[in-house]
Amino acid sequence: MSEVVLVTGGGRGIGAATSRLAGARGYHVCVNYRADEAAAAAVVAEIRADGGTAIAVQADVSRSAEVERLFRTVDDRLGPLTALVNNAGTLEKQSRLDELDEDRLARTWAANITGPFLCAGAAVRRMSTRHGGSGGAIVNVSSAAARLGSPNEYVDYAASKGALDSMTRGLALEVAREGIRVNTVRPGLIHTGIHALGGEPGRVDRIAPDLPMGRGGQPEEVAEAILWLLSPAASYATGTFLDLAGGR
Ligand code: NAP
Repeated sequence: MSEVVLVTGGGRGIGAATSRLAGARGYHVCVNYRADEAAAAAVVAEIRADGGTAIAVQADVSRSAEVERLFRTVDDRLGPLTALVNNAGTLEKQSRLDELDEDRLARTWAANITGPFLCAGAAVRRMSTRHGGSGGAIVNVSSAAARLGSPNEYVDYAASKGALDSMTRGLALEVAREGIRVNTVRPGLIHTGIHALGGEPGRVDRIAPDLPMGRGGQPEEVAEAILWLLSPAASYATGTFLDLAGGR
């Protein structure tokens, strides 16, 4: 039976690289997206062109009804879920904490905390032996920001990733005897479109000279780690964190 992976926010950036690599490794891939249908469709087309199996499904992961529809679509079209990559995430304009308002905080928590919680819950209800499932693996895409704090840029984003790190530990321990491993990758500065949301598309190039390795990372370098954590090769890893930040 095929491995089935759901990659949230799988149409762009780290999610797209993860979806493509999963497809190449033989996973049947659900590429979730919120708004960019064309990007998700392009990733699906690439996977299929290489002989793989993939579908694109629109859903805002911060809304429970949409998450339920997303997971039911995976059940119906790809079969039993064996892997979840909680990759979807967002940030907003670079600001100090004393400039953040209630609405922005609510949006950040919704996308970066509520979304991964809802998706992890739906995945556990399918994969846990306690629920009659056959086990599986979850990888959360956190950020080096969780330990750096992102001062003067987005402390709200950093804090949301801190919450995700806590969830990794707590959920990993809850389901450790139910056949599910839960781990996290914490990328540093990776070349994707997310930095434009903060108002600085060239942020990685600006900071790169100051990074220990002198360069930003590529989405594919994060995808490799995600696929390893999902794989049986990582069978004794749970509740752990893999930093992909070039030494930062
Ligand atoms: P990106 O290129 O902006 O892609 C973000 C993806 O998340 C998009 O596919 C987007 O969907 C999706 N998304 C956002 N909110 C969503 C929601 N509510 N429901 C469903 N999908 C949603 O960003 P990225 O850099 O690849 O980021 C991926 C993950 O890596 C994020 O969790 C981010 O925090 C984390 N990360 C990135 C970096 C970095 O330097 N790039 C560093 C550390 C951590 P649409 O395409 O439909 O808009």
